[in-house]
Amino acid sequence: MKIELISGLNRKAPAAILLHTENLRILLDAGGALEPDEALWPVPANIDAVLLSHDHIDHIGGLHRIPRNVPVYCSHITAQSLPAGYDIHCIEIRGRFRIGGITITTGSSGHAYGGVWFHLDIAGGIFYSGDISMESMLFHFDPPPPARIALVDASYGFYDTPQPQQLDKLRQHLQQPCLCPVPPSGRAVEMALLMAPEKQASIVMDEPCRLMMQQMAQQNDGSLRPGVPEALRSLVQNLPLFSTDASLLLVSDPDGMNGMAGVLRARHDFHHRTLFTGHLNQLAYQQLLDGEVDFCRWNVHPTLSCLKKLVSLLSCDYFAPLFTALDNTARWQQVLRCEIITLPTVERELCQ
Ligand SMILES: [Zn+2]
Repeated sequence: MKIELISGLNRKAPAAILLHTENLRILLDAGGALEPDEALWPVPANIDAVLLSHDHIDHIGGLHRIPRNVPVYCSHITAQSLPAGYDIHCIEIRGRFRIGGITITTGSSGHAYGGVWFHLDIAGGIFYSGDISMESMLFHFDPPPPARIALVDASYGFYDTPQPQQLDKLRQHLQQPCLCPVPPSGRAVEMALLMAPEKQASIVMDEPCRLMMQQMAQQNDGSLRPGVPEALRSLVQNLPLFSTDASLLLVSDPDGMNGMAGVLRARHDFHHRTLFTGHLNQLAYQQLLDGEVDFCRWNVHPTLSCLKKLVSLLSCDYFAPLFTALDNTARWQQVLRCEIITLPTVERELCQ
């Protein structure tokens, strides 16, 4: 038994983790590049199955590099965003399935529509979070069963500001007309849902965001909180058609360069301030430094307090903080009170 953290350890990078068991090689996520010039992670040979946590590019964007005959396990919603021709096995948001002799439990990750975490009943329990959030008003978070080894989204490092405080800051930004580039299956709908009561007449979404919201309004696949589809149905009916007259424009490219975001930002008569609320790629970060755009985080990954809560739910002995720099291992160890995994290969001794 061995775990190979191929990509995603020690920095915000595409997710790709390989589990080797006695007779299986299972890839957890197959992320695509976050930067245009990012080196691609090496695709391992002889993969028996791929498990995909959710439909964001840094978790599924590298699937096209995996041979098409490899079975892919993901939720029905995640499957919608995958390239054609794959052997897709749709899984429940909250359920159980088996690959070989391994039982895999899933639960809602609280981070994206159709997003799940995975728990594998090997080596005393291995938990892989994908991306998770425990603060969403839109997405439900299922508490996971205990696991000895936890591979967890720690994208925010030691950041610990709760979402309600961030919302207050966001309201300040939104006093001026803003363009928010967002992923449709995550923040877009949550922002519309929370901000609509305050800014009903002046929020609009581009087509991909609106379609995603319509789908959520029709179908709670298990990843939405109770009551959310009803609230979204009323929002869908009342949301005006897309127009730059609105003061908050939610558009579907999180990098803010493509789709409607790219089109509008290139226009000389477009004066909405671009406001990023999620991960900034290098270009966006430079634009922030140059004062061309603003940034106000909308929590979609766990704060430090959430990570502590998760560790106590999992009762884990080993913890790999993923998608973050690991320049202060001692602090992670002190705060989370478990052994911190810092090397890309977790060997047999730990996994037994
Ligand atoms: Zn994500």
